[in-house]
Amino acid sequence: MNAEIIAVGSELLLGQIANTNAQFLSQQMAELGINVYFHTVVGDNALRLQKAIEIAQTRANLIIFTGGLGPTKDDLTKETIARILQRELVIDEESLRSIEEYFARTNRTMTENNKKQALVLKGAEVLKNEHGMAPGMVVTIDDITYMLLPGPPKEMQPMFLKYGRPLLMNRLERQERIESRVLRFFGIGESQLETEIEDFIDGQSNPTIAPLAGDGEVTLRLTAKHHSAVEAKKSLDKIEKAILERVGHYFYGYNDDTLFTKVIEQLKRNNKTIAAAESLTGGRFLAELTAISGASEVVRGGIVCYTNEVKEHVLRIPHSVLETDGAVSEPCAKLLAEHVRTLCRADIGVSFTGVAGPSSLEGKPVGTVYVGIAMDGRETEVYSLTFGGDRETIRTRTAKYGCFAVLKK
Ligand code: ATP
Ligand code: MG
Repeated sequence: MNAEIIAVGSELLLGQIANTNAQFLSQQMAELGINVYFHTVVGDNALRLQKAIEIAQTRANLIIFTGGLGPTKDDLTKETIARILQRELVIDEESLRSIEEYFARTNRTMTENNKKQALVLKGAEVLKNEHGMAPGMVVTIDDITYMLLPGPPKEMQPMFLKYGRPLLMNRLERQERIESRVLRFFGIGESQLETEIEDFIDGQSNPTIAPLAGDGEVTLRLTAKHHSAVEAKKSLDKIEKAILERVGHYFYGYNDDTLFTKVIEQLKRNNKTIAAAESLTGGRFLAELTAISGASEVVRGGIVCYTNEVKEHVLRIPHSVLETDGAVSEPCAKLLAEHVRTLCRADIGVSFTGVAGPSSLEGKPVGTVYVGIAMDGRETEVYSLTFGGDRETIRTRTAKYGCFAVLKK
């Protein structure tokens, strides 16, 4: 719960009294473990009060008001809230009776506007005022709880301690913590992923598992509800572990991670540098990597070898390879990766060659892609891939595949 305390009263703005109600309530909130992010003070003015409420609604889910519950014209807290929330004000019979009794007891005549003090927001829980006449109230609408307390500290404090505080404590106990976590996968289709973990998805209730696919990636949003945040996290850990036992190979990160940020992270961690020869991707792989701050520590550079001339003369791919196997081939991808690695003096060389379309090339269909990875002391690996989709999709997926291949090394 995030609380905002709104103290209503022009005398506060005029400096005639200090806002001790906010101080008291903030101390109480701190004890309850409820965050108070804002104190607002507003005069006895309906329009400005309305504005203050509208702002509070955007940033708090518990709004506590003090003041303006009295019988006079300038007491307009209830009326303003009723208008904004489109809630009727209804007479609370018990409050009315106690007001009547009070007047009978003190031998005074009750006026019509004293009756106004017994009005409460329809559906609200009434907080009895044992030290004055105006009752307080609590109502929850659209996940925001409004607590209205009288202005005089002598009325407000006992009311809060006896009725308001237990009510909040009760809410806090019942409140469920929602923890969620996104698992990110690459190299596996949505339907395949769902099939692999079908039994988890079918049996889910808490945590829930929500798959989502896009840009060649699949994510699973795991959401757990629990009275304790720690328990919610534990249940997320458990389901995550079970999921990764099956499809962990395709897993690359959490929440806001991207394949590119993960590559940079991993290179930094392992103290390795990278270079790329990009035909199909035309520099996209390195553009994405260098968009991440700190990339300079690990990205050496690369060559956009879009034409065969550049492949041959700059990256020294033998003419025979381009003639017989073609630029879109496993041998070409292998040599591109190896040569860019040595040319740029990097630990890892990555290459991208393929057919992005719209038409086929060298007799190879659109979507034919080779990604090469050359590393020190290891056999260069070439991934032969087939991607569906348009030019943009093929290029994006290819660049991402390069990351995935580096991560899985
Ligand atoms: P009443 O029935 O007395 O009119 P009310 O709920 O309408 O109560 P106000 O009229 O706003 O409350 O304030 C009544 C008195 O309570 C003020 O004159 C002041 O002495 C005190 N008071 C109001 N707000 C605060 C505050 N935020 N901090 C300290 N005292 C306050
Ligand atoms: Mg008043």
